[in-house]
Amino acid sequence: MTEFSGLKLAQPILRAIADEGYTNPTPIQAKSIPPLLEGRDLLGVAQTGTGKTAAFALPLLQRLGKNAGKPHSRHPQALILAPTRELATQIGDAIKTYGRQLRLRSAVVFGGTSIRPQIKSMIHGVHIVIATPGRLIDLMNQGFVQLDQIETFILDEADRMLDMGFIHDVRKITAALPKHRQTVFFSATMPKTVSGLADTLLLNPVKVAVTPEATTAEKVKQRVFYVAKDKKRDLLTHLMADEHIKRVLIFTRTKHRADRITRHLQRGGIEAAAIHGNKAQNARQRALKGFREGAIRALVATDIAARGIDVDGVTHVINFELPNEPESYVHRIGRTARAGATGMAFSMCDPEEFAYLKDIEKTIRQNIKVITDQPFHHQDVEDNPKKPEKRQQRQRRRGAPQANRRNTQNNRPKRQRRRNSRTKQAVGAR
Ligand code: AMP
Repeated sequence: MTEFSGLKLAQPILRAIADEGYTNPTPIQAKSIPPLLEGRDLLGVAQTGTGKTAAFALPLLQRLGKNAGKPHSRHPQALILAPTRELATQIGDAIKTYGRQLRLRSAVVFGGTSIRPQIKSMIHGVHIVIATPGRLIDLMNQGFVQLDQIETFILDEADRMLDMGFIHDVRKITAALPKHRQTVFFSATMPKTVSGLADTLLLNPVKVAVTPEATTAEKVKQRVFYVAKDKKRDLLTHLMADEHIKRVLIFTRTKHRADRITRHLQRGGIEAAAIHGNKAQNARQRALKGFREGAIRALVATDIAARGIDVDGVTHVINFELPNEPESYVHRIGRTARAGATGMAFSMCDPEEFAYLKDIEKTIRQNIKVITDQPFHHQDVEDNPKKPEKRQQRQRRRGAPQANRRNTQNNRPKRQRRRNSRTKQAVGAR
């Protein structure tokens, strides 16, 4: 097994990762760090939970740290673009952690919060900017940040970026980058639209991929419960009576349902909070903090909101509803069993979701054990499955390229939905 010490990382970085308790690099780190240290472009296929953040952050820190002077006002040297504020925050935290012993300055910029402190830090100058696209463009338009001195550009979760309708923003940003630069491109999945974007940004990249589908699915114990739609809440209450469920992430398809389930749990005396796109930034941060610290036992989330949430020690994932895209399922269950731990994933399946269950089983190449010994067992799910409701069927036929298209569409504010449809047009035109 490769060791960190064999990867030509500098002492301050090795010390920082040793402090984090990492002993060996994860596969994506072992494959990515050497070429990135050499300055190569990289195309990485990896999901959250694989250690991809350190895979791009460590070489970046090392390269910048080598001859770091004072950062230039408004002219950062590295840009990391992430689709959500949660992910941007987490990357920002990782950069601070791994770069603790280096004299590098970084700032995280995202929307939904005051722009003033962000302007201030841009004027002050940082080496590394971690940004979501919209706010970065605001700052660029107002002249507070210029990208002409960027040496390394990292695009994280590119598939989600496109899924969220950010293609035009991404293009605007990349157009402002210098031609001569290092580019790192990470995506959990690689549909055509994403690889098309990668082709336009990368120069002779090293390609690395890890296949978390199998590894995640192996580490997580998975169980499915057949249940009628209107009995799911009762089943949830029944499941939550188990004290082993210490920290659980519950997934729903819609924000509305996330809120209703949260209230249902709270009424039953369970500390719960919802996290989704409608929540103000500080409410989301508060919920996450409570969840991390153990004050909140159940965090109810939609797929999009949960993307990038990095909380260790999630003992269980409960799919209140099954996603219609198997990749979403893999993503969801990957929230437990992180960094080598094992975890449990429970899924509720009603008759309309049986087809999704079969798709998922095909993808993970295993059958998920059905728990029949439960008070709400509904054998009809298997014996008498129903066709998914019309709208979802259409999406299944179209073969949504991304995780849970229905969810991402419905959860998006109108403005973004419009952007999304523009994205599709633009992609179709290429
Ligand atoms: P990521 O895929 O970047 O979201 O990382 C997933 C989790 O793995 C994070 O909690 C990291 O702190 C942790 N992690 C990253 N690299 C290592 C490593 N080499 N050894 C142990 N844990 C790690």
